[in-house]
Amino acid sequence: MNSDIFKNKYKNLSNLQNEEASKKPSPISKCLNHIKVDWQKNKNVASLWQDWPKVAGEKLASNCTPLTFQAGVLTIGASHPQWLQAIMFNRNQLLAALRAEGHDIKDLRIKQYYPQKKQSKEGEKKIWSLHPSRCDVHGKKICPICKISSPAGEISLWKKCGLCRRKDLSI
Ligand SMILES: [Zn+2]
Repeated sequence: MNSDIFKNKYKNLSNLQNEEASKKPSPISKCLNHIKVDWQKNKNVASLWQDWPKVAGEKLASNCTPLTFQAGVLTIGASHPQWLQAIMFNRNQLLAALRAEGHDIKDLRIKQYYPQKKQSKEGEKKIWSLHPSRCDVHGKKICPICKISSPAGEISLWKKCGLCRRKDLSI
């Protein structure tokens, strides 16, 4: 009996010593391992993007895209509320599938993401670059109606300046 108590006491003591040891600052080799793990994680981000169409399926992957992968949280952007719902519905399956591919994902977040918005902004830019009112693009000409120096683009388009055209349109 007494020897058992002693054994347990000894056991507890050795456990305590192990705990103390783990509190000590980590040696350099351990730090290097952490760097290795971080590098491995970054590598996984790239492979996550690669694996995404395979895991999500073609349809879902072309409408939903991984945006960020930070601290184990993967954020997926859905192009349309309908796809947001679809991905919400498949959330657990996707999480399981990504984990099965070896991605260390703690959580999956989904948000609305509008990739078309950027495209239409570029479209607006293009329209403005060709706009007849751009003097820096088309130069200036004297309006044949009001004889005022006006954007040449307007005159070649309407045979008069924009102000004269507006007057015509308002009549
Ligand atoms: Zn005019």
